[in-house]
Amino acid sequence: MKIYNTLTKKKEEFVPIEPGRVRMYVCGPTVYNLIHIGNARPMIVFDTVRRYMEYKGYEVNYVSNFTDVDDKIIKKAIEEGVDADVISKRYIEECKKDMEAMNVKPATTHPLATQEIGGMLEMIEKLIETGHAYRAEDGTVYYRTRSFRDYGKLSHKNLDDLRGGNRTLLVSGEDQKEDPLDFVLWKPKKEGEPYWESPWCQGRPGWHIECSVMSKKYLGDEIDIHAGGEDLVFPHHENEIAQSEAANEKTFARYWMHNAFLNIDNRKMSKSLGNFFTVREVGEKYDLQVLRFFMLSAHYRSPLNFSAELMEAAKNGYERIVTSVDNLRFLLENAAKEEASEEEAALLKEAQGFALKFEEAMDDDFNTADALSAIFELVKFANTWASDGSSRAFLSGLKEEIEQLSDICGLMVNRKTQMLEEDVERLIQERQAARKAKDFQRADEIREMLLEKGIILEDTREGVKWKRA
Ligand code: AMP
Ligand code: ZN
Repeated sequence: MKIYNTLTKKKEEFVPIEPGRVRMYVCGPTVYNLIHIGNARPMIVFDTVRRYMEYKGYEVNYVSNFTDVDDKIIKKAIEEGVDADVISKRYIEECKKDMEAMNVKPATTHPLATQEIGGMLEMIEKLIETGHAYRAEDGTVYYRTRSFRDYGKLSHKNLDDLRGGNRTLLVSGEDQKEDPLDFVLWKPKKEGEPYWESPWCQGRPGWHIECSVMSKKYLGDEIDIHAGGEDLVFPHHENEIAQSEAANEKTFARYWMHNAFLNIDNRKMSKSLGNFFTVREVGEKYDLQVLRFFMLSAHYRSPLNFSAELMEAAKNGYERIVTSVDNLRFLLENAAKEEASEEEAALLKEAQGFALKFEEAMDDDFNTADALSAIFELVKFANTWASDGSSRAFLSGLKEEIEQLSDICGLMVNRKTQMLEEDVERLIQERQAARKAKDFQRADEIREMLLEKGIILEDTREGVKWKRA
């Protein structure tokens, strides 16, 4: 299995630290809002990496954090007049719902920054003791970037160029730094903000330290894979390396994986630009399996542009697989013969070739675009050879192979394209509430949306009844 490593700019053979086990850390979202589909890209991509590794027989310890203390969370809390943890708890729950809807498996551990302050204090203390960090007059603790010889190795940046380009970092409030590239490990509290006691001042951690600490606690000093979106390479991941390697005196992560951006109109989708769609919004229009298919239709290191056309293409692609499986299920239910004939046995062997093709694509730095093509070829093969005269052994062999390869991609294909009962009930309740609030436009929208998914509503005297078309 080859992985492109940002650190070496090369595809390298994957060799885990411990045979049969993978320790993997993926930087998670800052929770102050519903996640958008740009944030969903790393979730889907690295969930697929994990699933493939599990398929190959590895036991994967997968850690992904929630950043639950941050300026944006605090700002939102002030706006709503609530405590910061009300905001972070709310959006962690919402994020987990979105992950489930996209069939992203929960991590082995989802640590929270606010629950790991003790470890952060310890690591910062160690960095100060060893000369890698210093306390400024107001209690801020900075990392002394120039104390770490390898700084810049991940982002392949030259320190002098970085310094030249970062003079602005020395503006007001930051002039306590010894060097413009020094970054915050701990900062003093401001009025009304959450804070913790520390040897340096009452305050809160900087952003980068949490990942170094959580990775160490849940995965150990050295890990196999560290991942995130490409915007995290610098400064976030560069700073994590500086912290962890200075504190632990070990190589932090062997393989650094970064997904390219999900764009819209060729610009990065982001909260700050306002050019985003939340996963929730997309989920109202499409089955989120379609979103998942769309994300995997490009290589994770290629930029991907979100558009209605590509989503329609993804919808067709996904449905092609579901329909084929649906058809195989129908044939299976009605098959008369049990055992595969000699010809069928030979065909099943031939079908295994598509699984090999799939693996070859995935072994080449997780080329999911080619992996999906292999599934399509298999689907075409199944559609060609499966018939009402086929044996059960033959039909189930084909069906299981399509399902297994799809499952590695996290695509649920063994389903009639039907909405789940609980989703229908939820939307009906939402429609009732909209009607009560005289928001008839929304109520109609929901009726239409359900109709599109084959659900017919009937308003009766005893309440709303529904049936499948
Ligand atoms: P944030 O909440 O901004 O820290 O982002 C959480 C994760 O989503 C990080 O791994 C980011 O790199 C990633 N991310 C944010 N926006 C995009 C985007 N438009 N495309 C791909 N990844 C993104
Ligand atoms: Zn991180």
